[in-house]
Amino acid sequence: MLNESSRLSINNSNPRRISGSHNRRSSERPKGIKKPLEEKGTNIQVVLRCRGRNEHEISANSPVILEARRRDAVLRNTGKDKEYSFDRVFGPESTQEEIYNEVAQPILDEVLLGYNCTIFAYGQTGTGKTYTMEGELEERHGRLTPRAGIIPRAIYKLFETLDSEHAEYSVKVSLIELYNEELRDLLNNDDSRTLRIFEDQSGSGVIVQGMEESIVSTAGEALAIMQEGSKNRSIAFTKCNEKSSRSHCIFTLTVHIKEIIPGGEEVLKVGKLNLVDLAGSENINRSGAEHARAREAGMINQSLLTLGRVINHLVDHSQHVPYRESKLTRLLKDSLGGRTKTCLLATVSVAKMNQEEIISTLDYAKRAKNIRNRPEANQ
Ligand code: ADP
Ligand code: MG
Repeated sequence: MLNESSRLSINNSNPRRISGSHNRRSSERPKGIKKPLEEKGTNIQVVLRCRGRNEHEISANSPVILEARRRDAVLRNTGKDKEYSFDRVFGPESTQEEIYNEVAQPILDEVLLGYNCTIFAYGQTGTGKTYTMEGELEERHGRLTPRAGIIPRAIYKLFETLDSEHAEYSVKVSLIELYNEELRDLLNNDDSRTLRIFEDQSGSGVIVQGMEESIVSTAGEALAIMQEGSKNRSIAFTKCNEKSSRSHCIFTLTVHIKEIIPGGEEVLKVGKLNLVDLAGSENINRSGAEHARAREAGMINQSLLTLGRVINHLVDHSQHVPYRESKLTRLLKDSLGGRTKTCLLATVSVAKMNQEEIISTLDYAKRAKNIRNRPEANQ
């Protein structure tokens, strides 16, 4: 949906204060700001990242069955090659910087224009979802390391751009986890509290009641909060027996920017970036487990399958998008579809021992957005 409702015009004589905001030099339209998304263009991208074989896969002599070309993944398993086309395919040699620059930076540009955008990491446990999203969160000598993932890079780039381009801004961060259809705040240690989702009266915005949103003034502060929240997540996991692979983790950066447009009018732009580390997709095939597990797997299925369907409906410009069929899509409703940019980033191993999961992930990603093969694009 068009995010126009959040674009408030502010009367010059009574400028609104943005709490926790920074005063910067007043400027005309920021230089770094790019032209907005095309109305009818594809606002949904599906990309694939292939993880090279790990020690375990190498020592098991599991052969490589997936080859990454620029826009195609070639699966060689039963003597017959099968090609899957995506908006982009990253091979095992791809770097964190490359992924950030090609996938996340264009999305951050939209957020700075006042739109809500989302990147999902989807894939089997152990294929690099958390590595791609978080990677190394710790700085060395005051800088991010080459292993830093999308979240720390987006945080740094956001503040770098805001500090150099904008008159006044405020940034908020939140980190929540969705497990068994229950939402938990990872920035608030109170385990007993579960959060509730409401749609605001216009139906275009989503409110999470009880969720902590921390105002941050620097990239370092935002990163420290992310590190703390990430620790809270892993502590909960060890208690709950590998829960990490069965919960969705949603990190959100919300930015308010006050901008002076030519003519002197002040405009408040609100943009939101959701970075989502989804539950392991292997759960999608698990159903015969004992009662609690089956229930859990069923809920994960519901969220992942609904997400796939929602993306598919958005690609097709369908009238009815089934947001309400899972909590994950209800939660992200105001950031999926319309004038937003969404990326499904699927991660896979290349080793034959994961063949079933590789095929399942390729099929899921392909169903979400069916891109016809472009043989001429193969190089
Ligand atoms: P997931 O979150 O999907 O379960 P992880 O991100 O935890 O998977 O990755 C599993 C392991 O593989 C981690 O030790 C991670 O550092 C490593 N890893 C994943 N993807 C890559 C990659 N592209 N390059 C190097 N190491 C990777
Ligand atoms: Mg993980």
